[in-house]
This record gives sequence, structure tokens and C-alpha cells, in this order.
Amino acid sequence: MLNSAEVKRLALEAGFDDCGIARADRLEDSEYPLREWLRRGWNASMGYMERNPDMRLDPRILVPGARSVICVVSAYPPPASPGGTAAFAAIRDYHTELKSRLFLLRERLGIQAKPCVDTVPIADKYWAARAGLGWIGRHTLLVTPRWGTWVNLGELVTPEECTDYDSPLPPRGRCDACKRCVTACPNHAIAPDGPPMLDASRCISFHTTQSKLPVPQDIDTRGYTFGCDLCQLACPFNQSGDTARI
Ligand code: SF4
Ligand code: SF4
Repeated sequence: MLNSAEVKRLALEAGFDDCGIARADRLEDSEYPLREWLRRGWNASMGYMERNPDMRLDPRILVPGARSVICVVSAYPPPASPGGTAAFAAIRDYHTELKSRLFLLRERLGIQAKPCVDTVPIADKYWAARAGLGWIGRHTLLVTPRWGTWVNLGELVTPEECTDYDSPLPPRGRCDACKRCVTACPNHAIAPDGPPMLDASRCISFHTTQSKLPVPQDIDTRGYTFGCDLCQLACPFNQSGDTARI
């Protein structure tokens, strides 16, 4: 049995900015509308998203016997100005950095656990939301109370039980009638209503970081060549001093 407070203390010591712990079970459709997103074909050419939907919804399939998902966030600076390279890509290879910190945390905890960063089929932002680290904004990104969306995510999925589990943050309106990200997207990629969903085929970030094909002519890149920060820059929770609204 892992002491949750000790896990969080060691996570901060390993260099992460925050840590939350969720019980490993299945994400509800209301938490993560993966099936509806796939049904709409909004995964564009990301065929891999269709391959393991159950695994993405349930980490006990990824790690048989999993009981806990230890979620961590690592904050990075917002972009100085829009265009060019998105903020997340301007920092040193975060995959390597986060993974080495997860290995360190696992070692200090002395447990068996699978470290996950981005390429593993786990719904990282939805698990971070389940672990109380933030909530899913209309732009489909995790919004944290302290750093807004400017965070990278990682997880340790482990068969260990923890003494305490975190709860998702209460709704408190959050996106309400805001929709600034919807308006800010030059290609209308973000669903204006219903559960947060994004049409990857309309997204600059998808076309410049994931797709192997040239950016379609009808996609307005607004000067971005790798990623896109526009919906994040529009989000009031990313404006300094605005965290009081949360
Ligand atoms: S990343 Fe850019 S293109 Fe993609 S949804 Fe956000 S604003 Fe639209
Ligand atoms: S810009 Fe507004 S609608 Fe979009 S995620 Fe932020 S608060 Fe929600």
C-alpha cells in the first residue's frame, strides 16, 4: 500500500510541478467521448486511435492488475508570441525529460509501474482530470488551476493500491458560455457545443505535427509551422492573474 502523501512529495522531489492519484478503472463516456469522436471521423488519419479504444478507456487493459494511476504535470512557459513553433515544442525534448523523471519516481517508490508519456495508449489528460489536476476545457486540453494549459503530462500505472485517491475538481461553470477558443480557431476545429471535441482534420497542430501529408490548402495556418497555440492563447484561464476565476 502506497502512502499517497509520500507519493506526491516524491513526485515534486523528482522535478514534477504537481501530482494527483486516481483509482484505475474505466473512464466513462461522459468523461472522455472517445467513441463519439471516432464515430464522427474526427481522428482524421490517426488510424491508431481506432485500434485500442478499450485500452485508452481502461488502464487495467494496458497494465493487467493496475489499481492506481499516478498522474504528474510539468509546466512550461507560454509562448512569447503566436506563430512559428508552438510553445510545447520550443522546450527541450519533453518526452525524454518526463520519462527520465518518471523512472526516477518509480525507483524512489520501489514499485512496479509502467511509465507513460504521450506515445502510450492511455488518455493522459482525462486521467489527469480524474486525478484532480485540472479539467478538460472546450478546446479539449487539460486546464490546470495554476498553469492553465501550459503543461506536459505523464503517468505511472501501477498494481499498487494507494492510501487516498483524488477526486475530479468540481465543475463550477468553467467554460460556461465563453467559447473564446471556438472563435479563436481559424479553421473551426473545436465543437461549439456538447462534450469537448476537436476535429483533427481542421487543426493546424495535427497537420503540422502528426500528418505525413502536406497541409491542405483550405487550412489557415496563421504562420504556424509546428503545432498551434491559438486556442490556448485565447483561453482566459491562461491569462496571468485570472486563476481567481477558477
Ligand atoms: S490548435 Fe489551433 S487549429 Fe487546432 S483547434 Fe486549437 S486553434 Fe484550432
Ligand atoms: S477559451 Fe473559454 S471555452 Fe475555451 S477552454 Fe478556455 S474557458 Fe473554456
